[in-house]
Amino acid sequence: MQKIVAKNPIVEMDGDEMTRIIWTMVKDQLIHPFVDIQLEYYDLGLPERDKTDDAVTTAAAKAIQKYRGGVKFATSTPDVARVTEYSLKKAWASPNGTIRAILDGTVFRKPIVVKNVPPMVRSWKQPITIGRHAYGDIYRNAEMRIDGPGKVELVYTPADGSAPKSVLVHDFKAPGVTQGVHNLDASIRSFAKACLAYAISERISIWFGAKDTISKTYHGRFKQIWNEEVEARKTDLEKAGITYRFMLIDDAVAQAMRNDGGFLWACMNYDGDVMSDMVASGFGSLGLMTSVLVSPDGHFEYEAAHGTVQRHYYAHQRGEATSTNSTATIFAWTGALAKRGELDGTPELTRFAQQIETAVIDTIESGIVTKDLASIAVPKTNGHVDTKGFIDAIAARLTELVTAGAATR
Ligand code: NAP
Ligand code: MG
Repeated sequence: MQKIVAKNPIVEMDGDEMTRIIWTMVKDQLIHPFVDIQLEYYDLGLPERDKTDDAVTTAAAKAIQKYRGGVKFATSTPDVARVTEYSLKKAWASPNGTIRAILDGTVFRKPIVVKNVPPMVRSWKQPITIGRHAYGDIYRNAEMRIDGPGKVELVYTPADGSAPKSVLVHDFKAPGVTQGVHNLDASIRSFAKACLAYAISERISIWFGAKDTISKTYHGRFKQIWNEEVEARKTDLEKAGITYRFMLIDDAVAQAMRNDGGFLWACMNYDGDVMSDMVASGFGSLGLMTSVLVSPDGHFEYEAAHGTVQRHYYAHQRGEATSTNSTATIFAWTGALAKRGELDGTPELTRFAQQIETAVIDTIESGIVTKDLASIAVPKTNGHVDTKGFIDAIAARLTELVTAGAATR
């Protein structure tokens, strides 16, 4: 079998625990036998992050900027217990947070839809992708308990010494609570740009929901910046055959429940936090949820939405059989390979990525599933396979597809 040659490298960021183990199997069975690709390898496993004082994470983010595409495996964000377990110098910051800050990215989460794992919502046929603005609002708030009567005001003191502005929040007659939140034009603009770049690349329409009828200035500013950015990419939206809709957030929720899916739902920070969990559980399993970080200037980092599946890793270490679903991890790869093919003008690479996805979906739909899906699949499957058995089955199906594809070309 002739291997497909990739013109440019992909940045590969290895992770921790169970995802690290899955990743080796996936690479050896689904990628290397078929594709000749240079991988810019960064080990983001905890021991290496500790050894390099986390410099490796920054280096990986810079490499994504250079090559435009990367794939990352779940990493563990150390808590106190891990600091002891791995004898770390300190509890290093979340690598995702570090990478997100460098790339100024927006995170998109998209479920993988398979026929035998029906969504909980009957009307959902196509995936609903959530794009969450990951800056500001209540996540960067200042809040206060109010103990008794008194005035709360918002005061802006301009740095240039001109007159301060203030507005009354509430004249308290009795105890209560208050908070101040903020956002930045630049961050809102990045969010809108990243959502537009993602929707155009995926050819899916965009919904953006807010509550500008109530919050005329704050939510209103989001709506206004979105309108400007949509206007700037009008031609690209038309070319992609997609539309942008602004909706009140409650209307968006109501319509999402009876829509058949297949759109990007751009959400303000809090809405994205809540709605991404609703969408993930509504579509079935964390093992079926993909995630991609997109920067406004078009850099892509693909990963699975789930973590390192620590409980399974400990079982694996004890020599017990595990049944970890590698679907989202494999789709992180196919996302990166397809994007590489698109950026480099090598459609055969993009096509191969689609063949891997087909092999995974065929495998699940034929009833070969891991434990997480065995309990929710319809019709019921005949038990479940283990971590390795699932990847073996996908590899066998992929070989069939590639062989058949070669014959018909
Ligand atoms: P998790 O790894 O997502 O796993 C939580 C539970 O969800 C698992 O115990 C398992 O349930 C189920 N699950 C998740 N992925 C699965 C899969 N692929 N196949 C089958 N079942 C799956 O979350 P966590 O245990 O809370 O976090 C573990 C570590 O991951 C933490 O160190 C955290 O910092 C890190 N994390 C990293 C990322 C990232 O790098 N993107 C994201 C989230 C968390 P059962 O045990 O019931 O089988
Ligand atoms: Mg949440």
